[in-house]
Amino acid sequence: MFSVKKSLRAKFTLVLLIVGIIPLMITSAFFYYTAKDALFKNVFKELKWNIGEISGQIENHFSEAGKDLMVASQNAAFRMYLLDPANRSNWVKEQQKTLKHLRGLYPDIIDEACFIDSTGQEISRIVFDQIAQEGELSSDEERSSFFKSAFDMDEGEVYQGKPTISEDTKRWVLPNATPVIINGKKAAILHFEVTMSHFQNLLKRTINPDRGYGFILNDKGEFMGNTLADINESAPFARAITDGTPPTLRHVYERMLGGESGIEQFTDGVKDYYVIFQPMGSVYIKGRNDNRWYIAYAIPSDRVYVELAILRYNILAFASTLVFVIALAYLIGNYITRPIRELAGATNRVANGEMPKITTKREDEIGQLSESFNVMVEAVKRRDEALKALAITDGLTGVYNYRYFKEELEKGVRNSLRYGRPMSLIMLDVDHFKAYNDAYGHPQGDMVLKKLAGVLMKCVREVDLPARYGGEEFVVILPETVSEGAFKTAERIRAKVEEEMIEPGGGNIITVSIGVATLPGDADSGVSLIEAVDRALYRAKEAGRNRVKRAGE
Ligand code: GH3
Ligand code: MG
Ligand code: MG
Repeated sequence: MFSVKKSLRAKFTLVLLIVGIIPLMITSAFFYYTAKDALFKNVFKELKWNIGEISGQIENHFSEAGKDLMVASQNAAFRMYLLDPANRSNWVKEQQKTLKHLRGLYPDIIDEACFIDSTGQEISRIVFDQIAQEGELSSDEERSSFFKSAFDMDEGEVYQGKPTISEDTKRWVLPNATPVIINGKKAAILHFEVTMSHFQNLLKRTINPDRGYGFILNDKGEFMGNTLADINESAPFARAITDGTPPTLRHVYERMLGGESGIEQFTDGVKDYYVIFQPMGSVYIKGRNDNRWYIAYAIPSDRVYVELAILRYNILAFASTLVFVIALAYLIGNYITRPIRELAGATNRVANGEMPKITTKREDEIGQLSESFNVMVEAVKRRDEALKALAITDGLTGVYNYRYFKEELEKGVRNSLRYGRPMSLIMLDVDHFKAYNDAYGHPQGDMVLKKLAGVLMKCVREVDLPARYGGEEFVVILPETVSEGAFKTAERIRAKVEEEMIEPGGGNIITVSIGVATLPGDADSGVSLIEAVDRALYRAKEAGRNRVKRAGE
């Protein structure tokens, strides 16, 4: 657009940039990147805290429930049932009270609690708040492996089994059990089942759906909880990895199932997400937990970027300010420098011979400069015209000089011949001028020549061109004039000279001899026309001077 080296406007813009915009840009860029970093760290800190919170709640829950289970198992009703067979029905009632109390502690969570002897026979049981009647009590072969594991626990330990479908409530539950020890022998187990939907609810309560979603996977890659979809209470658990799982999400699942914790980005095909994931603590209290669970919290990338977007808008505002300032600098620079450029252009035109005038309404220094320029151009114009006039005028007499005459004669002859128009040339010579000079001196002779030129000018038309041919010889070009007309003019000149050029003393009358030649009759070029007029003049001299002779005669 413009070169900084050459353009004032460019320098102006550059200065504005350096002074205003560059520090602004650097500051805002610095602000953007530091703020971005801080925001990013904050978002992930929050996410990490969130899953830590959920995981902690679940772990805490089991720890508390397990403790309560153990405390309950210390209740005499369970031991005495085996030690005091005579009063079993009383002890069963006591057991039922304890079980009810245990469930009372976790009303929404515990589906079922029961006391089972070493053969797997249920002795007392409640399902929700319902105490089972004697006839309903079952001997459960299905759960034998669970019982075996529970019996493997030592006193004060809790066994945590994998989720199973409860045979009473027909929905997914997570079984817990602790052995009841009598005289150092494991004699029975106390057991309760936690509703699986509890974890789903816990997840939903903790995770803000406007912000993201969370899920828990078990070690088989099944959803134990998922805030995006409800866990079906009795159907098989949904598998996380299916044929349709997008590769980046599959990668996240695989890392989770590998027991890793971390932060990943993935796309579900619609949106980009950031996800933070970690395995959950597997041992809650003393005992064994067969569940390996993994928890994750994902939020859409654009949520992470909401705050960043605000920053970006700020940057955008800075950028538009930048554009605005550059445009302003350009316009102001333009306003300031336009007259200067005009001035430069006008100066170049002066150099080319034009005489331009600058119009400016400005009153500042540049306006003054423009005004001075106009004054200068006026002066140059006047001097130029004077010089031009001087260049074509004879210094002594004021008629045109020889050089100008030659130019105009050539032009006139060309036109005359081309268009077939007549043109005449008069040449006059002062008679016996040498003698006059000798008698009165050169300065006096010069005065005569001046006066003669005045007479000559009076006798010719506006369109005629009188010139000094040299010495005391004059010529007149008469355009559009036939021989007859030129002769009359010549005669008039001759008569006027004779009449007016009388010396103060009365003697010495100045006379002139005149030759006349006309195109096209007397010549066919400028040179031959001069030769013709010269010959005519010579004849006038020969014939006795003070007379006019025509070339054609
Ligand atoms: P004629 O033309 O009648 O034959 O005689 P002449 O004496 O005029 O002869 P010629 O034309 O040959 O002489 C020219 C003289 O004119 C010579 C010179 O003294 C005089 N003369 C020429 N130029 C100037 C001039 O510029 N100033 C003055 N004062 N005298 C001039
Ligand atoms: Mg002469
Ligand atoms: Mg003469």
